Amino acid sequence: MEVGFVGLGSMGAAMAANLLKAGHRVRVWNRSIAKAEALERDGARRAGSPAEAAAAGVVITMLADDAAVSGIVHGTDGILAGLGGGLHVSMSTIGTELSDRLAAEHQAAGSRYLAAPVFGRPAAAAAAKLFVVAAGREADIDAAQPLFDALGQRTFRVGTRPSAANIVKLCGNFMIMAAIETMAEAATLAAKAGVDEREMLGMLTGTLFDSPIYRTYSELILDERYRPAGFAAPLGLKDARLVGQAAEAVRAPMPVLGVIRDRLLATIAQEGEDVDWVAMALAARRSAGLK
Ligand code: NAP
Repeated sequence: MEVGFVGLGSMGAAMAANLLKAGHRVRVWNRSIAKAEALERDGARRAGSPAEAAAAGVVITMLADDAAVSGIVHGTDGILAGLGGGLHVSMSTIGTELSDRLAAEHQAAGSRYLAAPVFGRPAAAAAAKLFVVAAGREADIDAAQPLFDALGQRTFRVGTRPSAANIVKLCGNFMIMAAIETMAEAATLAAKAGVDEREMLGMLTGTLFDSPIYRTYSELILDERYRPAGFAAPLGLKDARLVGQAAEAVRAPMPVLGVIRDRLLATIAQEGEDVDWVAMALAARRSAGLK
């Protein structure tokens, strides 16, 4: 099918490439033009604006944050201006309030909206192994399913209200951040107590904590893979903020979130904006006097 793709960052570039590989005709747009040019060589057509990408009839956004998505949707050359009766599939990790607002605005404009955020780092995106969490009208999810099949290993349908998918995504990222924090604290304790961290985490992630997140992130922590960032710490901080907003809106206390947010802030303050959120482990070590 013909699809527009807006946002060719670490995730978006790999996802757009997979749509091309699956035989879809893809119109790409990115703020920094060079990233669109790279995909043009693989057969994509470069759109002159987000509106032109949206004129494909279905448009996917994979942008950094709420401000980027809102800017791209609402601008004079934005998605709302070009989509007509088409479908916007919003795959970035954004807040529930923006997602609800976009759903209402699309409805008022006669266009359609799905939230379909994803789980998986850039390597999973490149391997078309993402988990897609979709919410919106069933018929719209059906229409987007061939695209999801080209991007991921499985799609989960979590309801008709689009922001339900954003809640699931934010819950997942909160749990990943908590896993990084607890492994970082445990590894620091082991190191300070003179116990081999690799053996400790290897034993635990091979038995009691034998799950993809613990296994993947324990390796990243132990191998100190802080740069280049697969998932940049400022995006993690953005997600911590979105989790807090969603929790406040429904009056759900999340005391652990405060610890994670401060660790992310310390990580970025000490290491800079370009580190992976795995560097939370480095900040934890430093807080204990290790280098
Ligand atoms: P990224 O590499 O930083 O890419 C961000 C994209 O957003 C780029 O295309 C960037 O354009 C664009 N952008 C940023 N601000 C903009 C603005 N004001 N106006 C227009 N375009 C703007 O981020 P990513 O890792 O691909 O993540 C994209 C989304 O997926 C985020 O919501 C993230 O939370 C989510 N996500 C990431 C991962 C991961 O592991 N990386 C996994 C799951 C979900 P330029 O190229 O011009 O800067």
